[in-house]
Amino acid sequence: MPGTNGKPDKITAHVLSCGAMHTDLTWLLLQPGRAITNRSNPRKPAEWTDCPTHAVLVDHPDGRILWDTSCPRDWEHRWEPTGLQEFFPYDGVGEDEYLDSRLAQLGLGAHDVDVVVMSHLHFDHAGNLKMFADSGTRLVCHDKEYEHAYSFDGLFQGAHLKTDYEGLEFDTVSGDTELYPGVTLLETPGHTPGTMSMQLDLADSGTMIFTSDAIYMRASYGPPPVGAAIVWDNQAWLRSVEKIRNIAERTDATLVFGHDPDQIHDLRLAPAGSYS
Ligand SMILES: [Zn+2]
Repeated sequence: MPGTNGKPDKITAHVLSCGAMHTDLTWLLLQPGRAITNRSNPRKPAEWTDCPTHAVLVDHPDGRILWDTSCPRDWEHRWEPTGLQEFFPYDGVGEDEYLDSRLAQLGLGAHDVDVVVMSHLHFDHAGNLKMFADSGTRLVCHDKEYEHAYSFDGLFQGAHLKTDYEGLEFDTVSGDTELYPGVTLLETPGHTPGTMSMQLDLADSGTMIFTSDAIYMRASYGPPPVGAAIVWDNQAWLRSVEKIRNIAERTDATLVFGHDPDQIHDLRLAPAGSYS
């Protein structure tokens, strides 16, 4: 609902479901009983699963924030030098689910977004950052993520692919940062050096924490937390999960996980639904 000055009078979060990659569940969830074979079942097939990807458009009285940018339309070509297109094909997406389509369904283009906040700079989150190269949009990431993303030689390292972000200028943050009132970026490293989560304190829906890859899915959260095949620092990752748990328990928060194949279907998704 717009306020008298044309700005929204409260915070509204639109969850943009951007379809799914597919992948071996072992990447996301290292449960020994599930992922590792034993002598009575030595040829257990890999579990190929949906790996949904989402972004969040936050309408705030002080500006419009986009949390993450999902995967690119040209994924097969762009990811080819890395081989990631074989492990994480972004082939579970419809025309209406690409990020630009989702924004257009809300009547928005790149110029309408004031700030893009990146949870981290992995290929499946930073895929559409260059949409904002000339839009006047402020780009924000954690300083340790920035440092790491530019620290290596060559085109890619792990799941950081320079094609996604090179040439862009970022404002960096460190520590827990209140971006706007009711929008807090939480430092939750471990998955990568500068992974962040986003806490929204909403008038009606209460506190929501978008964990991105700090917590892939409900099964990762536990307790006990279950690690994954791609973690930059396991101890830091574990501390971050417990940090999120503490905040969630204190605020009675709803957690929205980064890539949960079940939870995504339980959310109020844009453009039909939202949280405020
Ligand atoms: Zn990631």
